[in-house]
Amino acid sequence: MPAPPSLWWSDLEPTAREPLRGDIDVDVAIVGGGYTGLWTARELLRRDPHLRVAVLEARYCGFGASGRNGGWVSALFPVAASTVVRRFGLDAYTRLRQLLQEAVPRLGIAAQHDGIDCDFIQGGTLSFARSELQEARARHFVTAAADLRVPAEDLRWLERDELHAVARVDGARGAVYSPHCARIHPVRLVQGLASAVQRNGGDIYENTVVTRIVRGAGMRRPELLTTHGRVRADFVVRATEGFTPAIAHQRRSVVPLYSLMIATAPLDDSWWSDYGFLNFPTFNDERHLLVYGQRTADNRLAFGGRGSPYHFASTIEPRFDTNDAVFTHLNQALHDLFATLDAPITHRWGGPLAMTRDKFPFVNVDFDSGMCAAGGYTGDGVTLSYVCANALADLIVTPEQTTDFSSLAFVQSPSRRWEMEPLRWVGINTGIALATYADHFERRRARESHASRWLTRLLGE
Ligand SMILES: Cc1cc2nc3c(=O)[nH]c(=O)nc-3n(C[C@H](O)[C@H](O)[C@H](O)COP(=O)(O)OP(=O)(O)OC[C@H]3O[C@@H](n4cnc5c(N)ncnc54)[C@H](O)[C@@H]3O)c2cc1C
Repeated sequence: MPAPPSLWWSDLEPTAREPLRGDIDVDVAIVGGGYTGLWTARELLRRDPHLRVAVLEARYCGFGASGRNGGWVSALFPVAASTVVRRFGLDAYTRLRQLLQEAVPRLGIAAQHDGIDCDFIQGGTLSFARSELQEARARHFVTAAADLRVPAEDLRWLERDELHAVARVDGARGAVYSPHCARIHPVRLVQGLASAVQRNGGDIYENTVVTRIVRGAGMRRPELLTTHGRVRADFVVRATEGFTPAIAHQRRSVVPLYSLMIATAPLDDSWWSDYGFLNFPTFNDERHLLVYGQRTADNRLAFGGRGSPYHFASTIEPRFDTNDAVFTHLNQALHDLFATLDAPITHRWGGPLAMTRDKFPFVNVDFDSGMCAAGGYTGDGVTLSYVCANALADLIVTPEQTTDFSSLAFVQSPSRRWEMEPLRWVGINTGIALATYADHFERRRARESHASRWLTRLLGE
């Protein structure tokens, strides 16, 4: 088996569970052994320990984004707050925001309950502003949030001095701070979840590719055709996120976008004492093309970002997991934030995540066909997969009850499909190019205004 592609796998081995052997009959069959599939299995079994639950995984648990991500357990939602309010109203937005905030520590407690040591530390998150434009944007973001009833204890602007007590990066003028984020070791979480599912009576079949999902209809139950047998079930849950477009009839339900990461060798205490991050806050900055970082438990910087192109017809291939231009950009961005960084980059990797047409994640349960699905988290799936799995489990086990999870505004509210090609390719790659250009333009403007201030001072003296 080729080496699993991320820093997080460097100290852990993928599991080698047996594939499916022959036909089986279960209550709930789940396609995909990432966070969504495994949290769903866990939550189903917690609600009803007698359920027969099987997880079918094409490779090994954590092969996908769940074994490759940046380890942000955030309260972020992929859609702008103003859009959520426009579509569902302010009360629904407030409930969603509060539930996501509560989900961060709840996820940590759930992991602890299952004996999973995934380096969970809730140190909050910082978005640094490093130019006048970034500062203006960050301050506006905080003011606009306050207009949507977000209290200052949930989101606030830190002036430079206050920020320096928490963390420093070069050129920071201040930062937006939210306490609602933790950092984890992603693979420890996904492996721990898989073990917990098995301990609680669920079955996991690895190296078992689901080749077809057959909808139920009337008295006919849904079923899965796999490389190793047939699975009949009352409910089939599709939890395949960035790999979804490879499944028949799903090519346009989400698009796969690639996020890439790099990690440094461990940095020594004296280096960290210059930059802080004592409480391990996750961090990014206010640029348009997203970047994200964390200080790992073994004192590395793990740093990722977007910028990889969308591939025509939603193609997913292992070679897209790396991209030299994006790795170079990440390296530059990291050195820009931490000017004294001289540790080597030891790991480079990436993987696909999924975005829906309107950027809303989805939780769908169709009681007629038995077809269920959750995903479309864009880059915020660590917490959202936990939330959506709870919604799925509530809908499947207690459909007659309205719960905090099942009543979330976006649950049972499917997104429309993506456009046909070449419109997808043109639209998405234009968006990526515009974000890249906007950052480039802002950097140049910041450099020029810095130079002109310097010149004015010089001439004035
Ligand atoms: C580089 C990167 C960084 C990220 N950083 C963050 C972050 O810091 N915070 C955050 O919140 N989110 C982040 N994300 C997103 C987050 O990791 C995902 O949203 C989340 O892991 C999705 O989990 P999942 O279980 O839905 O999908 P996945 O983990 O992708 O799992 C899907 C599984 O389905 C399996 N599968 C697919 N097709 C089949 C089939 N036909 N038969 C059987 N099995 C199949 C795959 O092998 C895979 O294991 C990041 C993503 C990437 C790629």
